[in-house]
Amino acid sequence: MTCDDVRPRLLDYQRGRLPLPAQAEVRTHLDACADCGRAEAVEQELTSVLEHRLPQYPASLALKRRLAAEWPARGVERSWWSRWRPALVPALAAASVVLVVTPILYYERATSRAASERTSLVAEAVNDHLRVLSSQHPLDIESGGFHQVKPWFEGRLDFAPVVAFEGDAEFPLRGGAVGYFRDRKAAVFVYARRLHPISLLVFRAEGLAWPTRELTRIGSVEAYTTAERGFNVIMWRTRELGYALVSDVDVRDLRQLAARMAGGQ
Ligand SMILES: [Zn+2]
Repeated sequence: MTCDDVRPRLLDYQRGRLPLPAQAEVRTHLDACADCGRAEAVEQELTSVLEHRLPQYPASLALKRRLAAEWPARGVERSWWSRWRPALVPALAAASVVLVVTPILYYERATSRAASERTSLVAEAVNDHLRVLSSQHPLDIESGGFHQVKPWFEGRLDFAPVVAFEGDAEFPLRGGAVGYFRDRKAAVFVYARRLHPISLLVFRAEGLAWPTRELTRIGSVEAYTTAERGFNVIMWRTRELGYALVSDVDVRDLRQLAARMAGGQ
């Protein structure tokens, strides 16, 4: 199996849902490939976040009373339940997963607001990148080139994302998607460096507490470079727009890409 075979199977592999031979092949590849090993760790981390940090919503007393009143008490109806139980329980479980998972984006945002502003901007950028990595279909538009991706955003955003770099052989553009950065929409451009995805988030900069210290010049902008949870992050702003580059590629590679993006601005 190649890296491209392994990546889309990671979640199924962790859940033990692959046929046995495939399960063993993925295991063998993960033992040998550091990049995929890291991708697997990210997947694991996301799973644990989803499982452990979700808020629980207990049913209200009124709802419990209503359920108790409506609950079938007679033997006949209990047997109806036991007959349908095997089919209904998985469906009910699936429905409750949807109810619990849906609020996670809002929950994540609410907790990050409590953290320091600068840290939370970085955390948000990394989270957005993780969402791209973990999504089954991360890209709303697959790239046939910049001339397809850029116009695709028209009408989907409340601003025009200005990006000076169209992708090249070293950093090809893979596609784009609409995401969110805090309370606002963001254009997500996904580039790659070999097998490593790189997210560029572009969003309206106003109202965000941008880092003002420890900035370094990249191209024509003052950029803030940091690392979080194994990902390198470079952020900068022009007058109206904020930019965040996130990837697990080497920080020197990421700075090279930032320079290509910020050079002409
Ligand atoms: Zn690999």
